Amino acid sequence: LKILLTNDDGIEAPGLWAAALALRDLGEVFVVAPDKEQSGVGTSITLRSPICVCSIDTEHYLTNGEINANQVTAHIVKGTPGDSCILGLERIAGEVDLVVSGINAGSNLGWDIAVSGTVGAAMQGYVRGFPTIAISVGSMRQPRFQAAAQLLRLIGPRLVARTSASNILLNINVPNLPLNQIKGIQVTRLGNRAYGESVRQDNSGPNQRYWINRDVPIPAEQPEGTDIWAMKNAHISITPLRFGLADLKQIPEVERLLNDIPISLLNIGH
Ligand code: MN
Repeated sequence: LKILLTNDDGIEAPGLWAAALALRDLGEVFVVAPDKEQSGVGTSITLRSPICVCSIDTEHYLTNGEINANQVTAHIVKGTPGDSCILGLERIAGEVDLVVSGINAGSNLGWDIAVSGTVGAAMQGYVRGFPTIAISVGSMRQPRFQAAAQLLRLIGPRLVARTSASNILLNINVPNLPLNQIKGIQVTRLGNRAYGESVRQDNSGPNQRYWINRDVPIPAEQPEGTDIWAMKNAHISITPLRFGLADLKQIPEVERLLNDIPISLLNIGH
């Protein structure tokens, strides 16, 4: 197998290398990741400047490699997670059997995936038609990557072996718990917003400055069956994602709202 591995925590992130070690058991791994942490950049890509890429030695990161292990190569991208995935698939690895983004330190749940760099990178694999996994563990502090890495080993080959005509993108979140406290695996739908933003004024300079932090938990009721519920209740959550922000239920109402606005009304030139 050929696997592209990327992330949004940057090339130095331990979760990236925990994934590399696991995926190497499945095939050749191309690590293509941002040079620094890019959490929160979502699907952002760099369009107005060139993007520097350099290859690096992986020995420093994969110390317990076996002699007969599959090859792992690594490239650093001075860009976003989305840039990394695009360059990985379009130039560095070429066509692959599987794209993995992660393992992210910190969960990516509910509508918050809209700003997730982990999911943002994964989107680029998905739109190119490759089976793709975005994977996160539920804590930024002392994250435990073992269960998530093992899940990649188990689920990766199953995604590759699929015969369905439609491509698949899985958003996986693993509770940051010892394995004996994880109660099971649930296939879920997206919950609501899990976190809101706080804004803090920064008076340290002459200009008006602010810090935005995503640190306000939203206490909304999160029903059973959602990814947020699963994680709160010590289950691994797996949500299949699709494109389609369109709210089909609202189409009749919007059609009514637009009633009696003929296109001629848009002409204000005369
Ligand atoms: Mn991150």
